[in-house]
Amino acid sequence: MTDNSQRLAVARAAYDAVPLYDPKRAPVDLDLTDNTNLWGIPPEAERAWRELPVARITRYPTLYAAELKQALAAYVGVTADMIVTGCGSDDILDSAMRAFGEADDLVAGPEPSFAMIPIFARMNALRYTGCVELPSHQPDIEALLATKPKLLYLCSPNNPTGALVARDTIERVLREAPGVVFLDEAYAEFAGVSSVDLVQQSDRLLVIRTMSKAFGLAGLRIGYAIGQPSLVMEVEKSRGPYKLNAMAEQTALAALQHDMPWVNEHIALAVELRERLADALRSRGFAPLASHANFVCVPVPDCVNVGLALRERGVAVRPFPGLPHIGDTLRISVGPWPLLERFLAAFDDVM
Ligand code: PMP
Repeated sequence: MTDNSQRLAVARAAYDAVPLYDPKRAPVDLDLTDNTNLWGIPPEAERAWRELPVARITRYPTLYAAELKQALAAYVGVTADMIVTGCGSDDILDSAMRAFGEADDLVAGPEPSFAMIPIFARMNALRYTGCVELPSHQPDIEALLATKPKLLYLCSPNNPTGALVARDTIERVLREAPGVVFLDEAYAEFAGVSSVDLVQQSDRLLVIRTMSKAFGLAGLRIGYAIGQPSLVMEVEKSRGPYKLNAMAEQTALAALQHDMPWVNEHIALAVELRERLADALRSRGFAPLASHANFVCVPVPDCVNVGLALRERGVAVRPFPGLPHIGDTLRISVGPWPLLERFLAAFDDVM
């Protein structure tokens, strides 16, 4: 076999070995696992999906969601040709890997981080290397750059720690990384800061965002990315037409045009209750990590069994066993205080 066909065979074997993603989570009364908006969906967005004209369903949706791109562009402060939309930011990440990676290319990212990144890499016949973060919960940039990755992934605020990546770290990565940099800002609204402006300075930066978290629209699957027009065009090409469904487009548009006061009010609430939850955990002798997202990550010994015991009490949170520098932790989504009180009561009972 030639070198090239050997590489392709290895990549194909890695692809064939990808299991179906199926965490087998049984339904539970109170689900605090997925960091969605537990207050519900914004009012005008709700009206828009209820009132969607039948003709919008019998016909195909718009080719590339042009009107929604205009609204997203206004929201993040760029032009519409710098936006690509997707079926959730999952779809954007997956499509962007296909657009920029060739079989057996390397994707590098911090460890721990968003669990789907290694899976998307393998689904696209790419290799993945995780570089353990520093004890400060910042990504280990030296280690990440040393891998010379074709694609470098950063997540800010990071899932599951909630840590914000320092601005100068992102700037350094953009200067020194050899390939495309993915900056996942799924939780940026809760941090109140974004590095989306850096797309104006770099044609290798793709910032990935979502309407699943702050906008409460996870079920409709609306993600988007921001980058230079040439970069986003490659992602668009790798996806094809009609990928955002009509209901998702109409609802997202209504949310951006009419619901920003509701969205901002609930972001502020999530931030306030995140701190209240962290205080409540501290008062019980735990040491939650500083979070800039809509969840709290707290070291808890034997987290898997604690998670199971909480489930028996009708509350689901996400255990992360053995995180580097941290050990066993639970990640708890923030929502209305009565829900968090239910979690705390179950937690007290278990601990
Ligand atoms: N990035 C991060 C960091 C996430 O935590 C998630 C969802 N948990 C996603 C992307 C994907 O979100 P969605 O596909 O709903 O936009």
